[in-house]
Amino acid sequence: MHGSIPTRDVLHHRRVCTSNLCPRCLTGSETIEHCLFHCVEAVCVWKTYGLDSTLSFLQGGDPFSWSRRVYSSHGSIIFIIMWVVWCARNDFLFNNHRSNMHESVAKIHSLLSCRTSAFDTQLLDSIPSIHPRQVSWSRPAEGTICLNVDGSLLGSPQTAGFGGLIRNNVGAFLEGFYGTASQSNILYVEIMAVLHGLELCWNKGFRDVVCFSDSLLTVKLIKEGVSNCHSLANEVHIIRQLLGRVWRVVIDHTLREDNKCADLLAKLGASANSPLVLLTVPPTELLNLIDPDVRGVIFIRE
Ligand SMILES: [Zn+2]
Repeated sequence: MHGSIPTRDVLHHRRVCTSNLCPRCLTGSETIEHCLFHCVEAVCVWKTYGLDSTLSFLQGGDPFSWSRRVYSSHGSIIFIIMWVVWCARNDFLFNNHRSNMHESVAKIHSLLSCRTSAFDTQLLDSIPSIHPRQVSWSRPAEGTICLNVDGSLLGSPQTAGFGGLIRNNVGAFLEGFYGTASQSNILYVEIMAVLHGLELCWNKGFRDVVCFSDSLLTVKLIKEGVSNCHSLANEVHIIRQLLGRVWRVVIDHTLREDNKCADLLAKLGASANSPLVLLTVPPTELLNLIDPDVRGVIFIRE
């Protein structure tokens, strides 16, 4: 922060560089603050999280008190975004790779999930925290659509359902689905939710998709594949074939609190007694859940 990071601005002062201009946007002097908050691509990433207005901070201020302040108001997501934005800058400068919003958002989410799993231990849970874990719906980058899917088992005897919904980057409902599954097995319904969700995205012509499931195992099986003797090898194989088509799909894990809309649809599926219902307008009971997502309401993780 104190001129120790060799940005173009610092290097220019030390007469190492002839220009202090930011090599990415060519519109401003490349200070650390510019890189992290004001460079064109950084602004887009912050806007995706509805956080651009909170960031007019470092000017003359002490970065440490600023850090403490934003951590208590927003949690660690601020630092995760800063890190990803900084890595994107370095990737451009040193590897000549211009990351797009989609990649940055995917990296932020994967770091958020890592952070959650790393700190999600009984030991840490037993220590009262002044910073409860905060989660909010994972808004996709502009031009990308977000598919949230979920599976659910209900009642006794158990009925199983899956469901999901497709939203754009402003959170508008585009499509939805739910259905009753033939096997009362949670992994099966979670996987069927991904399968039906991806098929719906493909059929509706969406070619840039981020798909969120709150089942870590489902995400892992789809990403890594399974052996032929796995009980769900066939379903996983179909999904992996779907992913091989000409489109861009990122499958990622999300927290259950982040996935409430899909959960509600999965429950509808479990009680529907219908193999597949497609929705073009959200059911009324879903509206109450979609609205806080759009406004970026942060849920406290229970
Ligand atoms: Zn710039």
